Amino acid sequence: MKNPDVAGFLQDCVYMREPTDEEAASIVATYQPAPLNLSLPIKIVASDASPYSEPINGKFPSTQIGYVKISLVLIDLKDYDGLSKPGSRFVDPFKVAEMHRNADAISFTLPGSNIRYKGAKTVQAGFRRAVWDQLSDERTSFAKGTDFTVRGTLLDIDGGTVEMKKCPVCGFEPSGGFKFIQEKEIQPCPDCNEDVYLTDSLRIHEQMSDFGDNTSAMTRFMNAAEHLIVATLVRMLAHYQPKALSSMAFILDGPLAIFGQPARISFRLLSLYNRIAQQLKKQGYPPPIIIGLQKDGQVMEHARALNRFLPNNSYRVVDDTYRERFIIGTSALTDNFGHETYYGQDFIFKTEKGRIFTVGIPYPFGDKQNRKLFAKQKADVAFYGDQIARAFDVIRYFEFDLYENAVVPIALAHRHASISLVPGGKVLDLVTRHGLGIS
Ligand SMILES: [Zn+2]
Repeated sequence: MKNPDVAGFLQDCVYMREPTDEEAASIVATYQPAPLNLSLPIKIVASDASPYSEPINGKFPSTQIGYVKISLVLIDLKDYDGLSKPGSRFVDPFKVAEMHRNADAISFTLPGSNIRYKGAKTVQAGFRRAVWDQLSDERTSFAKGTDFTVRGTLLDIDGGTVEMKKCPVCGFEPSGGFKFIQEKEIQPCPDCNEDVYLTDSLRIHEQMSDFGDNTSAMTRFMNAAEHLIVATLVRMLAHYQPKALSSMAFILDGPLAIFGQPARISFRLLSLYNRIAQQLKKQGYPPPIIIGLQKDGQVMEHARALNRFLPNNSYRVVDDTYRERFIIGTSALTDNFGHETYYGQDFIFKTEKGRIFTVGIPYPFGDKQNRKLFAKQKADVAFYGDQIARAFDVIRYFEFDLYENAVVPIALAHRHASISLVPGGKVLDLVTRHGLGIS
């Protein structure tokens, strides 16, 4: 920082900085050798999402349309084994192209500023309608004619009834609130008579304004939709193919967390994944591996700064004290970091080959009732059983020279999201096509 005003200002601030050699040595001393499990999943699903916002016409740059593309790639370990020739660092491009065939992309188009969808009175009203239309149609369905859609997942994770206190249009609070159940996912407001949708409970529209920049609403939508789509796939497999599910891994791009207005569903996803793990356990199967992999953000920046001091094959749980001292650089604002948003625990993991990752794994508990106790227990690796080792094995297996600190499935999903031109109305037939027996 060359500007003396800025330098002076920074003197009064707390922020993340490079650790000194002594500091790094003491931090590194708290790392452990990373566990191995050596049993790999059979199939891996990776997801990646990208948002786009564009003026519809160069002459009217403030009239914007937003779209979000979410890609899922399914990799069968059998196929992947043959990806690069033995002893070669390079992958066979034809085989990579083949893997793209096992990918699906769904796109969602949403109105941005200055656009009123289907005759809505405001941009926000049109946005609510568009979110409902697109999250309730066949687009997010994994099995035709079933409730294995995002719409079904929203109801299921709330025990069949989603409640909402007030009308998103006029603010009226009907006695008992709105109660959305299957087949009653759209209800007129008794006061203003406008339609209120089940998906309004995600509250993403609250960030929409008629003329302002609506990028953050798109980002929130993307984040919630990606996690809900993966959850829908896991739900569907738990129902039809529990055995296949138990030998699968799911890798999401970013932390296992839902940010902003829809954050509430992070609590629901936590209980969903734990419920499914319990169900599989009863049936004699291990839970699927679910990983949130972070490419950037504070934890990753910290991990990179520490990287040169860390021995290969080491890891550490990012507990709240560690996060406060070395990552955020200030004392905690809450009794439990990420209480409102996270459903998975971050771990820093450096592989045998020296690449560094921030890996999120679902908390092994169904709820967060007692904040202080939860903050302690979420950082106790004993509660995770072999989940940490199984997740690390997936990363070890897929780390790749071609992509810095990324794993192949995510890189493929990312590439797919940027190249695929699949029309938005497509049903997700990934699983069906791969003979998991879902029709
Ligand atoms: Zn109303």
